[in-house]
Amino acid sequence: MYRIGIDLGGTTIKAGVVDESFRVLSSCAMPTASELGAETLVRQMIDLAEKAAAQARISMEQVEAFGLGVPGTANRRTGLMEYANNLCFENEPLPDMLRQHFGRPVRFTNDANAAAWGEYLAGCGRGSRSMVMVTLGTGIGGGVILDGKLYEGCNYAAGEFGHFTIKYDGRRCACGRRGCFEAYASASALVRMARQAVKSPAGRESLLLKLCEGDAGRIDGAMVFAAKSAGDGTAEKVTEKYLHYLSIGITDLINIFQPEILCIGGGLSQAGEALLAPLRELTNPGIYTRTSKVNTRILSAALGNQAGIIGAAMLED
Ligand SMILES: [Zn+2]
Repeated sequence: MYRIGIDLGGTTIKAGVVDESFRVLSSCAMPTASELGAETLVRQMIDLAEKAAAQARISMEQVEAFGLGVPGTANRRTGLMEYANNLCFENEPLPDMLRQHFGRPVRFTNDANAAAWGEYLAGCGRGSRSMVMVTLGTGIGGGVILDGKLYEGCNYAAGEFGHFTIKYDGRRCACGRRGCFEAYASASALVRMARQAVKSPAGRESLLLKLCEGDAGRIDGAMVFAAKSAGDGTAEKVTEKYLHYLSIGITDLINIFQPEILCIGGGLSQAGEALLAPLRELTNPGIYTRTSKVNTRILSAALGNQAGIIGAAMLED
């Protein structure tokens, strides 16, 4: 039997057929009709699911269940998508609307949880019993798997790692508090620091300015790590500062959860060992159980964009 996972994003909807070994057999995508309300979105999801099934050469009768990752609060108890970033509706029963069409179980969770569940089952968490995922993107997202189960909290909003404080009275965050992890350790924070650095007198000779062809607005996280690997002093200083902040939050998360795996996801995780090796070194002295034989392994996400599709498809009640 097969399952279909749908990753509903603010700009793109993706759907894919997943088999029992968690392999994605087909996937397709279309731009989200975010302005047009829930019914149009449901229509889009149905079309994509049918297209994905056709591409995988299976019939809809062979699909035992559907899963949905949504950019907002997915209340699994009521079945309502309570709130969504970037979509124009609230309190819509998305799973029910899909269930009425397909006549099969439809489960949902928020997109960060879906990605974490996918990585846990089929990516860097495979074979473990506990994993914490931290996604470094525009903000910082996350997901928690404890004893083999996705932990969603009493209101389905657990794992919002972007918003714990790592710097007392620090920068104001978009959430209204000060000094949040995401204001210092998201990919956007890294880019902000790099753009500032190339404007300083010491940064004017930086390789970063060559990589972005003189337009600091084009600097991205990959460029910063590329310049650092090439030995650029400005990029080295920026990444050192960034990794310092990142390591504070990651150390805290490891001390709180003691997961088998701490998975780093998001675009920045593509920097691989250039990011992970110094991060391990910086976190280690602060790990409470550092002398223990068993300790958390920090790994980068293995599945990229497919994690959300696999995780959504494989949700359980
Ligand atoms: Zn915040």
